[in-house]
Amino acid sequence: MLQYRSYAFGKNHWRIDPDLRAILGIYWPEYVRRMQELDQFGAFAGGQAYEAAYAIDRSAAPAFLMHDVDGARVDRALLHSSHMDILRETARINRAPYEGGSWMEHFTFGYLLADPGLYCSLIVTNQTVYIIHKYAQEHKNWVEPLLSGTMWGATWMTESQGGSDLGANTTTAEAGESGWILNGEKYFSSNAGLTDLAVVSARPVGAPAGPKGIALFLVPRLRKNGELNFYVRRLKEKSATRAVPSGEVEFHQSEAWLVGEPSAGIYYTLEMLTVSRLANAIGAMGIARKAYFEANERALKRTAFGKPICEHPLMRRDLTDIAVRNAAGMALTMRAIAAFNASWQSAPPYTADYHYARFLSHLTKNRTADHSAAVTQLAMEIFGGVGFLDEYAIARWHREALITPIWEGTGNIQSLDMLEAMQKKQAHEPFLAEMIPILESHGGNIGKRVAEQVLQSVQTMKGFSETEAQWRSKELLNCFADAAQTALLYELADSAGERYAQIAELYAQRFCFHADYPAWAITAKSVWSYDPDANTAQ
Ligand SMILES: Cc1cc2nc3c(=O)[nH]c(=O)nc-3n(C[C@H](O)[C@H](O)[C@H](O)COP(=O)(O)OP(=O)(O)OC[C@H]3O[C@@H](n4cnc5c(N)ncnc54)[C@H](O)[C@@H]3O)c2cc1C
Repeated sequence: MLQYRSYAFGKNHWRIDPDLRAILGIYWPEYVRRMQELDQFGAFAGGQAYEAAYAIDRSAAPAFLMHDVDGARVDRALLHSSHMDILRETARINRAPYEGGSWMEHFTFGYLLADPGLYCSLIVTNQTVYIIHKYAQEHKNWVEPLLSGTMWGATWMTESQGGSDLGANTTTAEAGESGWILNGEKYFSSNAGLTDLAVVSARPVGAPAGPKGIALFLVPRLRKNGELNFYVRRLKEKSATRAVPSGEVEFHQSEAWLVGEPSAGIYYTLEMLTVSRLANAIGAMGIARKAYFEANERALKRTAFGKPICEHPLMRRDLTDIAVRNAAGMALTMRAIAAFNASWQSAPPYTADYHYARFLSHLTKNRTADHSAAVTQLAMEIFGGVGFLDEYAIARWHREALITPIWEGTGNIQSLDMLEAMQKKQAHEPFLAEMIPILESHGGNIGKRVAEQVLQSVQTMKGFSETEAQWRSKELLNCFADAAQTALLYELADSAGERYAQIAELYAQRFCFHADYPAWAITAKSVWSYDPDANTAQ
């Protein structure tokens, strides 16, 4: 019954998203050969998946079953059959990078799906395959079941005493005669009760304290003798992302398989995190886009003071805010994914290209989370009072967006990781080498001023103590991210038209210069207005 509660439901989310096609034209031009699949997935994302995600959130969240009918401990999350159907149907989006395709493909489908609960189940499964693919080939027999949706993965690092500080992990690993044994607890464990094979961080006995002493393990749900290998204590009650069962997990003498070198565990973990940070970013922009689909149509249809609300100058401004954040966040995310796609096969100690991809992932993860929270909040407001009612689709998107600044490392952690990448790897140098020439050759005086700002910030930062550098690191991250979004939008205008040069200018004014939008934007209809019924080209 979602047709009565949503404007976006029943629409093809691929067809009504011209920004996506414009941006893919630069970063994944091969998409034109996959149009039919994208079109089908767009219909699925706006139809069956959209409705199922709404229903799961409202009334069909996973339940927890601790014992089977015979009283044996099974610790299973019970997912509604329509929920399982969606997961099985979408499992295939994880295949591309491992079967000669690209991460651009995977993340494009992830963006169209967007729902962070559903996408979380998929991406942690993807990360499990990632670890096997790169560092644990001896377990490659798990890959096909994980990619075909018959088995599920998980990535469990966070413990009750700390998620940001992985070096505080106390779960222990001990090498015995018949393999490694884990003891300890994980406090936030997504896909708990669903997973068949989890990637788990633990400290081998005798390993040093802190992050360098963390090793990574694969832990199957069942022991060799068929009994449960780890226990789910409970599932969490969450304000959103209800589609993914997230729980607390206990390891008691659990059988585990070491991944690669024990001393490199923290590097493998950070690699996995790069995958999920990019997923977080593309998911954040997917969420923002769904909220826009809802709000844009509301603004076209609702009247106040004798005309459609989209005709009022301040509503145009709201729609401009959303259009600017959405296009900019998408451009940055796709650029970061392209950088990862080009370097992801790199292993410790890593190439400079990989360090740059990681650097971009920090900028992207943090800034897209801001965009998603702001866009979804504004979209609710555009609906007026109805926007606050849980019975309509719009209200959910802001709740869902609020996980994106927290998951996969908060804004502070992205800022500190970026700082470290600058200090230890000079990862900002390829950033400057890419973005400054674009800014200096596009957008006239605006591009040049943004370039100057970035160079000045880097210079200023050099004189700071470590304490002051940390204090200012988020500001610096935003400066870089906003400059990159301006540059990438100007670059996009070269191939996709003037609309993106306009958005680049608006983005720079608002976010780089903290100034008001110029007055021409009031009548720049191509920026803030979009008629989904008139624009349904494939
Ligand atoms: C629904 C859900 C599902 C999750 N699923 C998983 C999962 O499957 N696997 C998993 O491993 N984790 C999972 N997590 C955990 C999540 O990744 C962590 O909650 C997150 O990384 C933050 O860690 P924390 O909660 O321990 O907060 P803390 O690390 O305690 O941080 C608290 C605050 O302190 C700040 N802070 C910490 N250190 C610093 C510093 N040095 N400087 C400045 N500020 C700092 C942080 O920015 C934050 O604002 C999940 C979380 C949720 C909500």
